[in-house]
Amino acid sequence: MRASRVWRRLLGVERTVIERVELDEDDEGVIVVHVRPFTLATGRCGVCGRRAPGYDQGEGRRRWRVLDLGVTKAFLEAEAPRVHCPAHAVVVAAVPWARHGSRFTRWFEDVVAWLARHTSKHAVTQLLRITWRTVGSIVARVVAAARADNDPFEGLTRIGIDEISFKRGQRYLTVVVDHDSGRLVWAAPGRDKKTLARFFDALGRSRSWKIRLVSADAADWIAAVVRSRCVNARLVLDPFHIVAWATDALDEVRREVWNAARQSGASAHAKQLKGARFALWKNPERLTGRQRATLAWVATVNGPLYRAWLLKEELRQVFALKGEAGIALLRHWLVWASRCRIAPFVKLARSIRARLPGIHATLRTGLSNAIVESTNTKLRLLMRVAFGYRDTDALIAMAMLDRGGLCPPLPGRAAA
Ligand SMILES: [Zn+2]
Repeated sequence: MRASRVWRRLLGVERTVIERVELDEDDEGVIVVHVRPFTLATGRCGVCGRRAPGYDQGEGRRRWRVLDLGVTKAFLEAEAPRVHCPAHAVVVAAVPWARHGSRFTRWFEDVVAWLARHTSKHAVTQLLRITWRTVGSIVARVVAAARADNDPFEGLTRIGIDEISFKRGQRYLTVVVDHDSGRLVWAAPGRDKKTLARFFDALGRSRSWKIRLVSADAADWIAAVVRSRCVNARLVLDPFHIVAWATDALDEVRREVWNAARQSGASAHAKQLKGARFALWKNPERLTGRQRATLAWVATVNGPLYRAWLLKEELRQVFALKGEAGIALLRHWLVWASRCRIAPFVKLARSIRARLPGIHATLRTGLSNAIVESTNTKLRLLMRVAFGYRDTDALIAMAMLDRGGLCPPLPGRAAA
């Protein structure tokens, strides 16, 4: 077998001539593989891939990082000539081994994206010897390429629109999920009519008219844009937000009870109430043994707080049941909440009554809570762990990689 075939296989490159391989002693002993594209592959625009006449030789030879060979850092090195594209003017010609504008090969980038999704920040950066910022820009490139290859808006009929706050509520993302595939399909910084209009601009008029259902929170700006752009869509309330209101009301009750205990000098009691926060907040099926015990304690020592918890749980059940059964349970809940004499829940009952037609529509369409909720949870996690709040584009790309189903498979393996 010819050595060049082995090298192509090893490096994961196609339509590439291997010229020679050397150790660069000046650069910490890295392996450098000198290459050039097959003649047929030259003369294409790096941006659009269309044929374009040559312009000049560019700025000399360039290096692209490849996956380590064994445990040694390695690079491809080649000329980077420029072409004159009718659409993109003078740009570096396309190379078969890398995406445009990248200093890494496709295989390298796919591995970065896969690791970023499946492992920790520490694991990716240490294993591949790159900074977290570089991980962000690689993921952004991988996601953009995947979206260019596959229309992310294909077949959208039922969408959810949500706003997510970060940087302590100073900044926002508007996100769009597909209720049928469960995927995140679009996200952008901002939360206003203009931001959401950009989504419908990208979607285009004919596809906007195919949208049948839009779920959202009660925000007026979303309703206004949806009414003007999706003429055939029904707007319903997202179950996630209604349950979130109940969680907020419960937290308000807990804080009141806690403050009262503190002011009356019952400090041990107050401390225990503070610790009960997570037990009250979590779904009961996910409670640990200790949190169950905390909840039992709340039930014996604080009637109103325990009733508030039961009210939150029953409302959650309404949306787990859905349909006519959910509507019947909601009727029961409204009677109970209106008479419970716990102010935040009396208020919640009133605001749910005011939106009853929208909520009934939500229950009848059988929308699941899970998609918006899991997207929301994932994005919050990413914001906390991932990007130090600096780079919104990288943050959105990370979210797309995970919730948008755009993570590439590990390269060089047959599809499982
Ligand atoms: Zn072009």
